Amino acid sequence: MSLFEEITIQQVGITYKQPLGLFINNEYTASSDGGKIQTINPATEEYITSFYAGTEEDADRAVGAAREAFENHWRKTSPKERGDLLYKLANIVEREKVLLAALETLDSGKPYHSNSLGDINEVIKVTRYFAGAADKFNQGNISSSNHDKYGYSLKVPYGVVAHVIPWNYPLLMACWKLQGCLAAGNCIVVKPAENTSLSLLYFAQLVKEAGFPPGVFNVVPGYGPVAGSRLALHPDVDKIGFTGSTTVGKKIMSMAGQSNLKDVTLECGGKTAAIVLGDAILEDAIDWLTLGIFFNSGQNCTANSRIYVQESIFDEFLSKFKENTFKNWKFGNNYDPFDPECTMGPLISKVQYDRVSGYLSHGKETEKLEAIELGVVKNGIGFFVPPTIFINVPQDSKLCKEEIFGPVAVISTFKNYDEAVALANDSDYGLASCIFTENVRKANQFVRDARSGTVYVNCSNEDDISLPFGGFKMSGIGRELGYAGMESYLQLKSVHMNIGNPSF
Ligand code: NAD
Repeated sequence: MSLFEEITIQQVGITYKQPLGLFINNEYTASSDGGKIQTINPATEEYITSFYAGTEEDADRAVGAAREAFENHWRKTSPKERGDLLYKLANIVEREKVLLAALETLDSGKPYHSNSLGDINEVIKVTRYFAGAADKFNQGNISSSNHDKYGYSLKVPYGVVAHVIPWNYPLLMACWKLQGCLAAGNCIVVKPAENTSLSLLYFAQLVKEAGFPPGVFNVVPGYGPVAGSRLALHPDVDKIGFTGSTTVGKKIMSMAGQSNLKDVTLECGGKTAAIVLGDAILEDAIDWLTLGIFFNSGQNCTANSRIYVQESIFDEFLSKFKENTFKNWKFGNNYDPFDPECTMGPLISKVQYDRVSGYLSHGKETEKLEAIELGVVKNGIGFFVPPTIFINVPQDSKLCKEEIFGPVAVISTFKNYDEAVALANDSDYGLASCIFTENVRKANQFVRDARSGTVYVNCSNEDDISLPFGGFKMSGIGRELGYAGMESYLQLKSVHMNIGNPSF
């Protein structure tokens, strides 16, 4: 029953000890029933290792540890103390950057040079951001005060917060939530996705090394319907933060309602529309749009998977889009995500490969749409899908309506701005929208007209951790990052302090 395994990642010349246990009370531990989950490298389909899968009992154990830590000491820490610990953590993550990035590549297939290193750089940035925010974003208000009364509101942590994380940015999506939540003064139980748990398990010991006391940060890897559901249903979890599909997001919300009405933040799916007006600077627009759909092999909740181009520039757009994709989006030598030339890796899993392939064959065979493949995949091994576009896709097509979560875009035309906005807003999702134009009036109008939590003007999938992130409509509830990244993990308490002369 080993809790660690020595793993060598040849491409970066590192041999390290991979933790395989749940992380509870600052110790790795086996699961209650000894069950394990196997993880494989999606580029080679080779077995990497197996780690323990948390049971309901394990989730309870972790929640118990978090509750004890919160009640006994963590709730009494000062914001500055928490900020200082997060600064230490940022420095430790920086020291471990190469290994953490390599782990993301090994376990999720994302290109090491163009994606994974960037993910870990952002983890460092977000940790420092919330370290600094700890004693700044938690201020309350004084109101209704006079000689006899001191009335004020203050922001306090929830207590025990659970988090359920997806696989597309295994460590980064976790850290978008965890650092703000810790800065706010909560104790945490986090469940990573079952196919990408290695980096978060490794990260847990770095949290301990930074000086976070036992019970403050706990990791319970495991299956969604087992460990994840238990956290969502747990009567002693005060809030749950979730990132993942809308289908599971709805379940999380309903489990929160069925149990103790815990608060929820949901970051769910998307179907980002991008509008390209006739006056856009085409080369720039296409650089952003190919990045926005092909980065991370399209496995981005904000992927601009619907592109609407003004009729007058469609032919030029299409030919430049193809040229740009062939030039910039490559699987690299030997389809190795560690290769410096690689900008596109495989999809995360066989399940995801089958799902995306299903959309491709539906588009081609069932709907008889025109598909253009902009890359060549190797046969047989690894979950590689070529960058693909479908053109002139009707708005009611399944490819326009559903989140594909792969390197697949639909490109259609429009005649004028009003039609484009109607098409862009015609979605159950509302995570992000883009517009490309040199007309500042039209851009500003679109910022107001777009029904989405983020609007990109002359860019797409832009990174900025100081801006709140989250969705309208079925893309979610609540916000992460920016000031909202801490506010989401604080609740308001109002105080009526009677300081006048006693009247009775
Ligand atoms: P998913 O919903 O299948 O899984 C997400 C997490 O939920 C995993 O940890 C999984 O184990 C867990 N889970 C599954 N069933 C559960 C259940 N019944 N109870 C509790 N937990 C359960 O999503 P995924 O396939 O891992 O990720 C892809 C999805 O995530 C896409 O829809 C994407 O748009 C979305 N996403 C959204 C954002 C955002 O910020 N809006 C960011 C990244 C990904």
